[in-house]
Amino acid sequence: MNIYVLLKRTFDTEEKITISSGKINEDGAEFIINPYDEYAVEEAIQVRDAHGGEVTVVSVGSEEAEKQLRTALAMGADKAVLINTEDDLEEGDQFTTSKILAEFLKDKEADLILAGNVAIDGGSGQVGPRVADLLDIPYITTITKLDINGTNVSIVRDVEGDSEVIETSLPLLVTAQQGLNEPRYPSLPGIMKAKKKPLDELELDDLDLDEDDVEAKTKTIEVYLPPKKEAGKILEGELQDQVQELVKHLHNEAKVV
Ligand SMILES: Cc1cc2nc3c(=O)[nH]c(=O)nc-3n(C[C@H](O)[C@H](O)[C@H](O)COP(=O)(O)OP(=O)(O)OC[C@H]3O[C@@H](n4cnc5c(N)ncnc54)[C@H](O)[C@@H]3O)c2cc1C
Repeated sequence: MNIYVLLKRTFDTEEKITISSGKINEDGAEFIINPYDEYAVEEAIQVRDAHGGEVTVVSVGSEEAEKQLRTALAMGADKAVLINTEDDLEEGDQFTTSKILAEFLKDKEADLILAGNVAIDGGSGQVGPRVADLLDIPYITTITKLDINGTNVSIVRDVEGDSEVIETSLPLLVTAQQGLNEPRYPSLPGIMKAKKKPLDELELDDLDLDEDDVEAKTKTIEVYLPPKKEAGKILEGELQDQVQELVKHLHNEAKVV
């Protein structure tokens, strides 16, 4: 089976985030594989081990994403591809990323493509479905179980805490939700092996794309942190006085009544 995983390098949102000049300050930030993409890598490895074939992880980004691709190789993926946009593009959005990925995948005859359900930084959840749409293959999002039998596929997906069972067929793109599996940690032999596994680097030119083909369709106007939480107020006294006080605060300060 020909399996591809779309992998994004993201900053760790558990870290303290600062913003300067309208952009998230990346200096000193910790970078990781987008956690939902770890589920996608793990599932891809399990499908390959059960059905044979090969797992290729692919990322659009800068050279720095090599580290996360090597980690996926150490987990057990077979090959990695970095589509390096550093020299060609300054700006990009979900359209940019999806178009580049779809252009790369269009002649690969992928049976199964796995992506994360959402990136924990950009958070749009658009890239997987957009890629499937461009490739004209079905997609199923937020999956928590995947069973493949020949070309028939049975899937359980998370629907806001409930489950939906869907049957479909390959070729297919799915996006991984928490609970799909327990991603493995790279073992020491895995890390050693990963150093020798192929990691190819491509540029837009190699995909017959130029800047205009992937020009962003959206523009980010402003990026800002949520306002600092203020300390809560504890109302005291008779219940009736408390209610009056509360209404006063809601009217004068929160301005909601
Ligand atoms: C050239 C370029 C410049 C950019 N510049 C900026 C910038 O200045 N500021 C900014 O905030 N963002 C920038 N971006 C990132 C962009 O805006 C989005 O973050 C990105 O396109 C994905 O959208 P998302 O984060 O909402 O991912 P989602 O759609 O939420 O991601 C869902 C899944 O799609 C897959 N996926 C997403 N992104 C990638 C990827 N890059 N490679 C492989 N798989 C992926 C993963 O499986 C992921 O789990 C740039 C992107 C490009 C290509």
